[in-house]
Amino acid sequence: MKYFPLTPILHPWIEELSKDKDLIFDWINEHNSPINLINLDTFAENFQEFKAVFDKYELKHKIFFARKSNKSKSLVWAAKSLGFGVDTASIHEVKDCIEIGLNPESITVTAAIKNKELIEYAVKHQIPIILDNDDECDLLHEVLSASSSTLKVGIRLSGFLHNGKKLYSRFGYDVTKVKPLLTNHFTAQGKYSNFIFEGFHFHLNGYSIAERVSAIFQTISLMDEIKPYGFHTSYLDIGGGILMNYLTSKEEWTDFLSALKESVKDDRDEVTFQKDLLGMVLHDGHVTGEPKIYPYYNTISQGGFLEQILSSTSDGKFCHEELNKRGIELRIEPGRSILAQVGVTVARVAYRKYDIDGRLLVGLEMNKSQMTSASADFLVDPLFLPKDELAPELTEVYFVGGYCLEQDFILKRCIRLPQFPQVGDLVCFVNTAGYMMHFYERQAHGFEYAKNLVIGNKRTWEVLSDEKFWESRLNN
Ligand SMILES: *Cc1c(COP(=O)(O)O)cnc(C)c1O
Repeated sequence: MKYFPLTPILHPWIEELSKDKDLIFDWINEHNSPINLINLDTFAENFQEFKAVFDKYELKHKIFFARKSNKSKSLVWAAKSLGFGVDTASIHEVKDCIEIGLNPESITVTAAIKNKELIEYAVKHQIPIILDNDDECDLLHEVLSASSSTLKVGIRLSGFLHNGKKLYSRFGYDVTKVKPLLTNHFTAQGKYSNFIFEGFHFHLNGYSIAERVSAIFQTISLMDEIKPYGFHTSYLDIGGGILMNYLTSKEEWTDFLSALKESVKDDRDEVTFQKDLLGMVLHDGHVTGEPKIYPYYNTISQGGFLEQILSSTSDGKFCHEELNKRGIELRIEPGRSILAQVGVTVARVAYRKYDIDGRLLVGLEMNKSQMTSASADFLVDPLFLPKDELAPELTEVYFVGGYCLEQDFILKRCIRLPQFPQVGDLVCFVNTAGYMMHFYERQAHGFEYAKNLVIGNKRTWEVLSDEKFWESRLNN
């Protein structure tokens, strides 16, 4: 077993809180482990960071929080009160927005499956939707015809050319097929005459700035092509996938990754449980492929990432200028990146034991579904909050959870604690608001979901359950 540190970036509120340990012990005693803690002030800061970039380039813009990244409804309330929108992926998420009182124009529906119930609801409340395929168009047309209404729509695009190759996505219309779709069907005589075309949308997989720039310029060309046919485009929505950075040190990140690759050698210690390669493949003694992990360390993130896109050029033309010239509103749908530093997850130590190979396993009152994303491991060191300060004793451990599965390791990585862990100590996973706490959370074994607490007052550290928070704010 060998520990390679991955030191987290800590927002001052998280540092302050971790120094006020008694408070966290009180919350855990009251609500039981695990708890998720949300700070809406940080959510507001992230929103302002994006807004400042748009303002710098004097761009018309609209920010939509991609709700799927965290289920706390208080974030929807915060988006409303800060004056930005919400991107929704299901009827449940759409209904939450209406209940919280978002203006329909501040909701966008990019749901991968839009059934009749969802479309009827959107039409009834006049919530614009993003169209993905012909069957969706037909269903929307049917619903609109039945109620003699119209609806504002956007079209999702894919298949952009980048470095001579088409970027694959299972979502959206091929960008080359959209002009005939519009000119044949979205006209007064066409079959979709009750659609009000407003704009284009895309969401690219991965985190490439260059691919996003290619997609923007190709969409601008499309806008120019359809304009003579009477189609005015008012917005371009470039989706999410804006990077965020979790870690303080590039060196730690590269050291960990090379140690991970090297660990397969017989004479090396494991750095992950049983030398798990996090998605790389071992073939004839050689490690191939890339680890299937989020780039937890990166240098261009959040506002800086957006700024790089806007200030990019193609054929000497600036992205922001081309959008401005045409009066296009640029929209983004950040999920993860607008939740940077917004949340932490705290769990209590239930037991310590040595496994048959001599590893120290630390059982936490939580399970893996409460700390899982698409990344093969959450590569960020947690904070250790011991009940009592004991004599320093560096101790390498693995955190395991409550599922009766061999695989229920909360982190695959070996972690080092500054003293020997005791039953009742706490472990605080930082920066978990984006996807980690909710996206894969399950109730297997009948375990209750983690408690979601929202900081109501930062000065007094008053916390409320998510439900109580947004209900109390709505009723005021
Ligand atoms: C997932 C998703 C987002 C948010 O992506 P992040 O990487 O969390 O910023 C935005 N828009 C759409 C359509 C998505 O599917």
